[in-house]
Amino acid sequence: MIDINSLVRDNIRNLSPYSTARDEYQGDIGIYLDANENPNDNGVNRYPDPHHTQLRERLSQLKGVASESIFVGNGSDEAIDLIFRIFCTPAKDNVVAIAPSYGMYSVAAATNDIELRTVQLEEDFSLDSDKIVQSVDANTKAIFLCSPNNPTGNSFPQEQILGLASSLGVMVVVDEAYIDFSDKPSMVANIATHPNLIILQTLSKAWGMAAIRCGQAISSPQVITYMNRVKYPYNVNKLSQEAALAGLSNEANIALQVAQIKSERERMAASLSALKLTKTVYQSDANFLLVKVEGANKLYDLLIEQGVIVRNRSSVKGCEDCLRITIGTPSENDRVIEILTTQDN
Ligand SMILES: *Cc1c(COP(=O)(O)O)cnc(C)c1O
Repeated sequence: MIDINSLVRDNIRNLSPYSTARDEYQGDIGIYLDANENPNDNGVNRYPDPHHTQLRERLSQLKGVASESIFVGNGSDEAIDLIFRIFCTPAKDNVVAIAPSYGMYSVAAATNDIELRTVQLEEDFSLDSDKIVQSVDANTKAIFLCSPNNPTGNSFPQEQILGLASSLGVMVVVDEAYIDFSDKPSMVANIATHPNLIILQTLSKAWGMAAIRCGQAISSPQVITYMNRVKYPYNVNKLSQEAALAGLSNEANIALQVAQIKSERERMAASLSALKLTKTVYQSDANFLLVKVEGANKLYDLLIEQGVIVRNRSSVKGCEDCLRITIGTPSENDRVIEILTTQDN
């Protein structure tokens, strides 16, 4: 089995983490004069729980994994950055990512001075595993797969991802930001058998809490321990931890919202397909549709003129002439179709 420690940078393996006052004592046990806080209670005068204990317990119940396997970050973007800092030595190591995909992998690579090698997806957005394998060398520390993928909307088969995780001696990061909108299962269940898998999820999309900045990494306890050692001690503030817990108690309501978004996605796919200006509506497991149209730039500008902002992906290799349209409320979606219909002659 893969030795995670051997993939970790020496300085990180040998790091003794900062021990906060709240690491030593916490809870309702006495008078706290240990952290130089203002003693007057205003709801936020005390440092928050650095271990997000309650939040991780709740996530543990929801995800069916031990809380030792869950890292909570300031968005999953924090987890992406930490993966670079834990595993990749600047100006020496590299990672492999798919293209087109989420922009943060290349930004995090660049800020950490790490080479990012990209493997272009096939024309139908499927992934050729051999191309990944060929890109990996002795200095490759991680591969980044996004499934369902942003901006293409498709997912990659679990067997394909597990095949890469089993055969490559590198970390395999699967960004599941959109998993709640997919009919396919999460890969979280596979962390026990594949300690080099890191699954990223977030409260920013289906859970409706983009503003509080909360994301999770789910992996083997060994990997999570490293992430917790390297993160800022108080990386998730108290208001966000509380809002996350409150939001996560809304499970039934969120399930209804997700069901509506999925049904709207199918309705939008059908309406868009019926337009003559549409060349392709790509199948999507996420809460957006990638649509290839006639004259993407012109339609993008027209939508903005009419007060509707979508994402123009037409300059992205593999997404020529494509707009990425997030699924909104039924009336917002109607408005998109109404505007595009005026151009459909
Ligand atoms: C939106 C998105 C995220 C979410 O990032 P947060 O920092 O958790 O808000 C992560 N990955 C992908 C692919 C996304 O599209």
